[in-house]
Amino acid sequence: MRDVIVIGAGPTGLMLAGELALAGAAVEVIERQVVPSGQSRGGGINSRTSEVLAMRGLLDAVIERSIPTKSARGHFAGLPVPLDTRPWRTRHPDGVLIPQDRLEAVLEDHLRGLGVAVRRGTELVGLTCGEAGIEAAVSGPGGQEMIEGRYLVACDGAHSTVRKVTGVAFPGRAGTLAAVSADVELAAVSTTVPRSVSHISRLIRTGGGFWMLTSPLGPAGVYRVVFGSAEQQALARQAPVTADEVARALTAVHGPETKLAKLRWGSRFSDAARQVTNYRYGRVLFAGDAAHIHSPIGGQGLNLGIQDAMNLGWKLAAHVHGRAPAGLLDSYHAERHPVAARVLATTRAQAVLMSPPPEADDLLALREIVTELARLPDANRYLAGLMSGLDLRYDLGGSDATDPLVGTRMIDLSLQTPAGPTTVSALLQPGRGLLLELGDQRAPRLALPPNVTAVTARVVDSPVGTAMGASPGVDRVLVRPDGYVCWVGAGPESSPQAALQRWFGGHNAA
Ligand SMILES: Cc1cc2nc3c(=O)[nH]c(=O)nc-3n(C[C@H](O)[C@H](O)[C@H](O)COP(=O)(O)OP(=O)(O)OC[C@H]3O[C@@H](n4cnc5c(N)ncnc54)[C@H](O)[C@@H]3O)c2cc1C
Repeated sequence: MRDVIVIGAGPTGLMLAGELALAGAAVEVIERQVVPSGQSRGGGINSRTSEVLAMRGLLDAVIERSIPTKSARGHFAGLPVPLDTRPWRTRHPDGVLIPQDRLEAVLEDHLRGLGVAVRRGTELVGLTCGEAGIEAAVSGPGGQEMIEGRYLVACDGAHSTVRKVTGVAFPGRAGTLAAVSADVELAAVSTTVPRSVSHISRLIRTGGGFWMLTSPLGPAGVYRVVFGSAEQQALARQAPVTADEVARALTAVHGPETKLAKLRWGSRFSDAARQVTNYRYGRVLFAGDAAHIHSPIGGQGLNLGIQDAMNLGWKLAAHVHGRAPAGLLDSYHAERHPVAARVLATTRAQAVLMSPPPEADDLLALREIVTELARLPDANRYLAGLMSGLDLRYDLGGSDATDPLVGTRMIDLSLQTPAGPTTVSALLQPGRGLLLELGDQRAPRLALPPNVTAVTARVVDSPVGTAMGASPGVDRVLVRPDGYVCWVGAGPESSPQAALQRWFGGHNAA
């Protein structure tokens, strides 16, 4: 019996399987598609996801396959105000523009390196949940078979089969917008077609009743276009996207000089906003688009999924190993459900600001006011934190949760350790908890849980500075494997024992 069956090898399933394998859980990944999709869909990762990937040593490979950009910066509702994340002290202020298929390739390589091959061409068709485990009915090249696992995680996207076969509801609001996303090859381009990626507000144009976002994908002539008009609103969701439809939109927005050579793929999407009520139903958990959907405005979906996976992986691995403290697995829902709920709300707010019909003067006036507000440094910092995921602070409760650092991400400080120079993200790469001892005085040696490492270090200057953002005097920090601070202490007498017990099961658990 596998410890965990992961359904779906999109970014969420691949990241989750990697986290589980890294923590020593036996994982099986089931994927319906025979070969990777080759679709650009989620075109970028935000600053926090960049940090998360750096914490697993994956960011360099992602940057290698990314689309070069001159500091495109984030946006809110496509307003012409670049969002500046630097006040949040990140090493990756611009995030990374990478088509989703290339990111998935990096995650799948990483998973393979951990000894797990995705079982492709195999589809989940049924599910039975018992006291001791799960039986999943899968249909693959060899016919139908049952596979057993102790837990199953639905990472099977917006139209989740797991949701359907378990009868888990997906409450929310149906879509009001109908639009197309497509990867295209252009034979000729007019001067209005962007030659390089810049701020989103420069990539969006309207014309002939269409709006269109046109973004180069790297190779000459290859673009991602996202567009809509009354025509798309009227078409059925299942209607195939045709080359004629894309060519009409291109001509309307960029003129007849812009010529479509080839439609690589195209699909329709909406701005439906839905979220499962619970992320855990006994032995079945939900993550990524299977748990929450919303408009792609603001490019949050893929980022949310990867961060769901980062939050769940180490907790579920500890649980299946029998060393998870009480409540650890349920903290996945408690922490991640509010995060996606906020994204649903902010994408809906952005949709209002982004789609004023030309005659809607009131909305245009509101848009101008919000644009001016976004230029104010404090408002810009607020929006940059919101859209980049850097402002996230989990409500961890507990007696020391009043310290401003507890519940926030640990800044990726540069450190000098007895073993040489390093960074917080490098120390987190094995996917273990990290007890950082930053003071001059030695703390008494502790018996640590098996998945926590203690490191004595001195903070040295770097592009993110030297401050941690904690209360004065704090020199001991306990960081979870997902990079969030769960305890701080001042001086060698402070004791992390209760926090170690709460998050890692203490030193007696094994
Ligand atoms: C036009 C557009 C632009 C976007 N831009 C961005 C962006 O810039 N940034 C961003 O963060 N997000 C963006 N998104 C959203 C992003 O693409 C999704 O949020 C992301 O793909 C979700 O990842 P996932 O792994 O949860 O689900 P998916 O990527 O949907 O993966 C689910 C996987 O499960 C498999 N599967 C489904 N059913 C079964 C079954 N029964 N058995 C086995 N396998 C199954 C599927 O084949 C698929 O591979 C965009 C989306 C669209 C449509």
